[in-house]
Amino acid sequence: MKEIILTHNTEETELAGKEFAKTLSRGDFVAMRGDLGVGKTAFIRGMAKHLSPKARVQSPTYQIVNEYRGTVPFYHFDMYRIDDEDSLVSTGYFDYIENGICAAEWSEKIEDFLPEVHFTVTIEKLPEDLDLRKITIERCGT
Ligand code: ADP
Ligand code: MG
Repeated sequence: MKEIILTHNTEETELAGKEFAKTLSRGDFVAMRGDLGVGKTAFIRGMAKHLSPKARVQSPTYQIVNEYRGTVPFYHFDMYRIDDEDSLVSTGYFDYIENGICAAEWSEKIEDFLPEVHFTVTIEKLPEDLDLRKITIERCGT
């Protein structure tokens, strides 16, 4: 499965995240990829609009993980500061991934510890327009 979506502003990226979240269930893991400022947090904010409508979504840069309450808990990680397995274990990562739906920014940092089955959401800027984004959603490991 591979889906490609083009968005022209933050709202469209949030909407893409919201629609994608409707396909997820407990135990699903979403590895976000893409450079700083590309729209990873915007996409996750959209996911939360479905999974945890009251949540206020911000990048958990210092605390590493935010939990948003919902029918199924939604865990939002920022792996930028994770450098080894010990620091990952201490976030509770391995417990959270069983228990809820997870989305991780900077998932490139935890490549070796991703669940075998997961989604990747890659967001890229395109040269044609400053606000244009290409979002590629893929299911990996099945
Ligand atoms: P990241 O989490 O990848 O660092 P953010 O979601 O925090 O990125 O920020 C994305 C930035 O890009 C915001 O300032 C947003 O206004 C801007 N932006 C411009 N066009 C888009 C788009 N199509 N989708 C998402 N964000 C966009
Ligand atoms: Mg971010």
